[in-house]
Amino acid sequence: MSIEVKRRLAILGSTGSIGTQALEVVSRHPEVFEVEVLTAMNNADLLIEQAARYRPNVVVILNEEKYDLVQSALDPLGIKVYSGEKAISGVVEMDTIDIVLTALVGYSGLQPTINAIRSGKTIALANKETLVVAGELVTGLAREKGVNIYPIDSEHSAIFQCMVGEFHNNIEKIILTASGGPFRGRDRNYLQKVKKEEALKHPNWDMGAKITIDSATLMNKGLEVIEAKWLFGVEKDQIEVVVHPQSIIHSMVQFEDGSIKAQMGLPDMRIPIQFALSYPSRLVSEFPRFSFSDYPNLTFEKPDLETFRNLGLAYEAMNKKGNSPCILNAANEVAVAEFLKDRVSFLGISDVVENCLAKMPYISSPTLEDYVNTDKETRIKALEIIE
Ligand code: MG
Repeated sequence: MSIEVKRRLAILGSTGSIGTQALEVVSRHPEVFEVEVLTAMNNADLLIEQAARYRPNVVVILNEEKYDLVQSALDPLGIKVYSGEKAISGVVEMDTIDIVLTALVGYSGLQPTINAIRSGKTIALANKETLVVAGELVTGLAREKGVNIYPIDSEHSAIFQCMVGEFHNNIEKIILTASGGPFRGRDRNYLQKVKKEEALKHPNWDMGAKITIDSATLMNKGLEVIEAKWLFGVEKDQIEVVVHPQSIIHSMVQFEDGSIKAQMGLPDMRIPIQFALSYPSRLVSEFPRFSFSDYPNLTFEKPDLETFRNLGLAYEAMNKKGNSPCILNAANEVAVAEFLKDRVSFLGISDVVENCLAKMPYISSPTLEDYVNTDKETRIKALEIIE
C-alpha cells in the first residue's frame, strides 16, 4: 500500500537507540517521511549531525549548557534551536507536525506526550513509562481528543499487528513474550554478585542502558504488562507472560474462540518503528529475514517470579491502581540509575521498589499534579532508602 501525503515527524530522543533507528527508517523512505523536529538530551554532536542531514525546522537540546554549541552549528542552516524541558513540551504542539514519536527515557516522556495528545498529534509511543505512570489519564485524554497511540515497543506492536482487522473482536488473553534477559535460569545466589557489565549484555536486543537493566531484572516485562493493560483495555488476569528466549515470537493474542495469533520475525526494532509510522500501510524493507532453518527450536517457559521479583511487584502495583504504578516506576528509575553507579546491588533494585511501594502514600484517583508529586517524592524516598 502506498502513502500519498507525506508524514511530518517530531522525534523526541533522536540520538538514542530508538531515535537513531527511526531516522534510519526515515532515510529509507524519504518519499513518505519528513523530519520537522528532533530533540536530544545531551548528545549535541550527534544531534547536530542528524539535523544537518535531515533538515528539521526545529531542534531542542535538553541540556542548556550545550545550547550555544548546537545553536552556532545549526543557525547557518536556518534551523531553529531551543533548549530545556519546557521547549520539548512546547514544540510538540507545532502545526507542522503529524506524528510525535516519543523515545524519551523514563518519566521524562510524560509531559511532552500529554501536550502532543492535547494538540491532536498521532503518537508513536516508544516511551512505555508514560503509560505505566499515568495510563488512565493519558489514554482517557487520547480518547477525548480522538488521538491514536501506536505502540513501538516490539511486544505491543506485535499485539497491535495481531489486532489489525480484529478490532470488533474481544481479546480473551494477551500473551506477552519475554526473552528472560541475560540471567534467565540463574538463582538469587548468582544474582547477588552480578555487576552492571554483565547486566548490560542483553542476549537478543541492542538497547539503551535503562531498558537493558530493566530487561535483566524483568521490570521491563512488568512495565510492559501495565502498558498492555492501558493500550488494549484488558484486565490483569488477561495478560500472561511467557519466557521465549529466542525472541522470535514478539507476542500473541488469544481470541474468544480460543484461536491464538502470533506476530514473529527477527528481533529488529526497525520493524515496529516503521509499522507505527506507516500504519495502516506496510512499507517495503530490506531488513534481514527470519529463517526457520536458523531456529529449529522455539521454546517457551514460565517466568521465575521468585528470583525476579520485579515482575511480581509490577503486577501488584497494577492491581493496587491509583498512583502505585507511578511509585513503582520512579523507585525503579532511581534504583537502576544507582545500580549503574555501583551504589545498589542487582537484587537491591527490587528491594528499593518494594520498600517505596510499601512506604509512599497511596492516592486512589490521582490528578496530573498528584503524579508529578508522587514521582518527585518517591525519588527522594528511594534515595533515602539507598543511603
Ligand atoms: Mg519490549
